Amino acid sequence: MVILTLGDERGLLAALSLDDKVRLLTGADNWRTHSLPAIGLRAMVVSDGPAGVRGTTMDERNPSASLPCPSALGATWDAELVRALAFALGTEAKSKGVDVLLAPTINVMRTPLGGRGFESFGEDPVLISTLAVAFVQGLCQAGVAAAVKHFVGNDSETQRWTYDARIAEHVLRELYLAPFEACVREADVSLVMTGYNRVNGASMTEHAALLSGVLKEEWGFRGVALSDWHAARSTVATAAAGLDLAMPGPDGPWGEKLTAAVRAGEITEEEVDDKVLRVLRLGRRVGAFGPPADGGTPVLADPLLLRTAAATAFTLLRNHPVSSCAHHPMLPLDMATIRSVAVIGPNAVSPVTQGGGSATVNQVSVSTPAAALAEALAGQVRMAVRPGCVTWSIVPEPPREALRDPETGEQGIRLEFRGEDGNLVRTEHRTTTMFTWWEGLPDGIGGGGSGTIVLRTRYCPRWSGPHLIGAGGVGHLTLTVNGEQMAAGRTAIPADPVETMVRPGEIRAGADLTEGQEAEISISLLPEDWPQGPVAIRLGVVPEPDADAMLDEAVEAARDADAAIVVVGSGPAAESEGFDRPGLALPGRQDELVRRVAEVNDQTVVVVNAGMPVLMPWADQVAALGHAWLPGQAMGEALADVLLGRAEPGGRLPVTIPVAEADCPVLHSVPEEGRLEYREGLLIGYRGYDRAGTKPHFPFGHGLGYTTWGYESAVADAPTVAPDGDLGVTVVVRNNGPRTGREVVQAYLESPTADPARPVRALAAFATVTAAPGERAEARLTVPARAFDRYDEVAGAWVRPSGEFTIRIGRSSADLPLHLRVKSL
Ligand code: BGC
Repeated sequence: MVILTLGDERGLLAALSLDDKVRLLTGADNWRTHSLPAIGLRAMVVSDGPAGVRGTTMDERNPSASLPCPSALGATWDAELVRALAFALGTEAKSKGVDVLLAPTINVMRTPLGGRGFESFGEDPVLISTLAVAFVQGLCQAGVAAAVKHFVGNDSETQRWTYDARIAEHVLRELYLAPFEACVREADVSLVMTGYNRVNGASMTEHAALLSGVLKEEWGFRGVALSDWHAARSTVATAAAGLDLAMPGPDGPWGEKLTAAVRAGEITEEEVDDKVLRVLRLGRRVGAFGPPADGGTPVLADPLLLRTAAATAFTLLRNHPVSSCAHHPMLPLDMATIRSVAVIGPNAVSPVTQGGGSATVNQVSVSTPAAALAEALAGQVRMAVRPGCVTWSIVPEPPREALRDPETGEQGIRLEFRGEDGNLVRTEHRTTTMFTWWEGLPDGIGGGGSGTIVLRTRYCPRWSGPHLIGAGGVGHLTLTVNGEQMAAGRTAIPADPVETMVRPGEIRAGADLTEGQEAEISISLLPEDWPQGPVAIRLGVVPEPDADAMLDEAVEAARDADAAIVVVGSGPAAESEGFDRPGLALPGRQDELVRRVAEVNDQTVVVVNAGMPVLMPWADQVAALGHAWLPGQAMGEALADVLLGRAEPGGRLPVTIPVAEADCPVLHSVPEEGRLEYREGLLIGYRGYDRAGTKPHFPFGHGLGYTTWGYESAVADAPTVAPDGDLGVTVVVRNNGPRTGREVVQAYLESPTADPARPVRALAAFATVTAAPGERAEARLTVPARAFDRYDEVAGAWVRPSGEFTIRIGRSSADLPLHLRVKSL
């Protein structure tokens, strides 16, 4: 047994050959590092991701707790809650044998079009940094290492593998690097994942100035710089720049090629040693010089914690009194007066609870708004449920209850893996209809082999009439219904491999089906020879919608009900890694649906189920409006808690919601000739709106609770700020309303010097308080020294303008009733 003490890694290093050392620097497979039994080091297991622990396979038989997405966590503005959630994630990771979680994502929401914006904590680096540090620390407390990602400038998806983000150095420092710097300096983060993209000409895996210069030398990062999956695309340039671990493996640009480069003198052995030391140190931190992390039985994050988190994230944007009761705001619902409720909207029945791509997990359960409200209101009110319209772009997966395995008769489907000769090599009973394999398929299937995967099921329609059936996958597909071939064809390879997990190409066929009469459906896939991409197969079945009738039925249900709860939002597969959003409008006929419902029912509550801002042109016509984000498995229960007043909607916007697309400071994510110019400089998000004088629909930081607050006083600990000291500020607020509530007190800093290229003010600190009705609460805010500084590109250093700073305090970036002034020395 190897007993390690601090600093022993150097001793271990001496026992390793160059080949051993180099082997350690590339993954053993997709999710594991190599073991080195000679020194007692076992393989370390890594897993996605930020909103749940997937484990090493994407498999419904190995489900995961599903957290609110990171933009929802951003909306909590609550570092302690985020720490608790990360601890729960870490505990689940450990129990699944995972040592390193590929999370949190700490890129900045530069543009609301970013497909992966839901995976970011917000549009402000102070908010992101505070939550990211808590996340990293929470994981660490559970014994799991965090890999913050994606270093740096990976703020949108279009051409993410290649684009060159052109970012001025002061902008990089002040906005995009800031969360990484905080995680290194304040949380001693174990891993930093480098992005696919370039920054100012150099690929991030080859970016010596940022990897070695800034990250390691300047900030003192002692952990492992690992590549995003397949992002390392050169041998010497990546090794010399400071990349430490190339993932995944076993192939890749290092291995024998790196050994040869060392022998040829292109890379020194000391450079290799430094990388190995970092990996060994990681091994020590996660206990890899001991038995595997696997505790045997998975311990999934506590569902009650997830429910509380989803309610805390729920951001109430508007809550007006209804005409029948002028003093009582619409929410919480007054169940003494409501006898019937219409639950409307596509996302009421098919919510989008998580974003697509590597953040996706097989959720252990999902509570839908319709089901949770039916349960919460059972016996009290009449309830009608009407989707109103559809928003899908690929045929939706059928409900599991409608499927039977043709071999066993159990609920679900049958998968058959057939070898190159057509013989059955493996068969499985499964309960889902979307499968992705990055590895683990029988030989001869995928990777250029001629083996096939067949998905078979008996589908029992709930309605008679025309149905649409979709067969998804990348490769050649055949779709048969009741033994008859209905469609066949080859789908295109998507621009980004991850798109396969979310919306693989599809062939479709129509079929007339009869209620209660089972149809035998079979899909066969010959996977494309595509080394970078996974193999996926997917079944969709849906009755063909009658769009006008759906809308009319929803409006009639709203007319007949005392109150209408309309859950609209992103469509399935709309917000994802791998591609950006085409625009901010709600898909399908949802705007029309909301308008028509609001016309016939003045007690209309709209809930937006999206990870990022959407346009809400009807916002002023509805009584109440809230943003539920992508809230994870507890969506419905949390929503019922908030609507019925069992929980306070605790959220504050982590991102500005515009009136119109044209108002967004940055509305482009398509590189021009491979370049993505960050022309807006520092003026992203609310900074851009404030500077341009554009009024957003709902400002950054905005969110209502079920009580009201008065801001009484704000006092700084000192009248002056020392060059490297933080400044404490005490803010007194009073709960003026009828209920105990939670308030997020926000402080924004204005510099003494006016410069149109710089923000008018920027978030500098925040704190949450709770108080009972009539009570006062004291919020303690700490404005960090860095908030007063700016990065001077000529000096290559942080400098502080002299003069008087104004600190404005309030409840959003646009509602700042208090201010105080402090001088810089
Ligand atoms: C994503 C990473 C993820 C990795 C492994 C990449 O495509 O960009 O965020 O951790 O895949 O799944």
